[in-house]
Amino acid sequence: MRAISVFVPEEIKRLITDGAVFYVSHSGGKDSQAMYSLIKKVIPDEQIVVVHADLGEVEWEGVQDHIKTYTDHEVNVVRANKTFLGMVEKRGMFPSAAYRQCTSDLKRGPIFKFIRNDLKQRGGTIAINCMGLRAQESSSRAKKKAFSYNKMQSVNKRVTRHVYDWLPIFQFTTEEVFQAIYDAGQKPFWAYEKNERLSCVFCIMGCVNDLRHGAEQRPELYKRYVELEKKIGHTMFMNGKEPVPLEEHVGVKVNA
Ligand code: SF4
Repeated sequence: MRAISVFVPEEIKRLITDGAVFYVSHSGGKDSQAMYSLIKKVIPDEQIVVVHADLGEVEWEGVQDHIKTYTDHEVNVVRANKTFLGMVEKRGMFPSAAYRQCTSDLKRGPIFKFIRNDLKQRGGTIAINCMGLRAQESSSRAKKKAFSYNKMQSVNKRVTRHVYDWLPIFQFTTEEVFQAIYDAGQKPFWAYEKNERLSCVFCIMGCVNDLRHGAEQRPELYKRYVELEKKIGHTMFMNGKEPVPLEEHVGVKVNA
């Protein structure tokens, strides 16, 4: 196995010297945890800011304590002015892999809002948005670039703000991610004992194994998802064009 470290492109080295602020998005998941532990080795402490998008009731309980346990920096918690279940009910539909309104509204939006405000308060002009996305996760993620200029979030008029997206562990395998966590003397969040992925307890892209574990650990929340499907007449999962109720998909009956 190769030495676990992040590759720092020349461009990033130059941006460190130019005083860029590195905003580390930390979900509490293994990828964020590994990314943070490795970034700390290559980016000066005073140029790192940690931010967590709080998903509220649909987040795993204790995930914020987990982040704080293994983070030396202050953890800035941001929250959207809507909830996952409220958003689904209002729209009458669950998000899908092709239309991930949940990620944009509940995570990306609040995080970028925080970055804009925080950078302004610091009097800074360069922000690096660090995310723990990996090519191995999906074919669409594999097409992303590990380092890119974020035109949408940048401005160069009366106000100057340059924002870059950096995926420091883009080429990592799952084994390397866990290795980086253990090398740092840390443990991954407890739910990984059974889960493959973390974030929302019931993710629209979650595998049956993770959803079943969620139903075991959070039966009340599971019931709310099942009831919401019935209320809006739309299911989280489909089989081709056929809707598949969550209870059927997961194989766990509410109140069973
Ligand atoms: S974890 Fe899944 S359901 Fe939750 S915001 Fe991300 S994509 Fe959406």
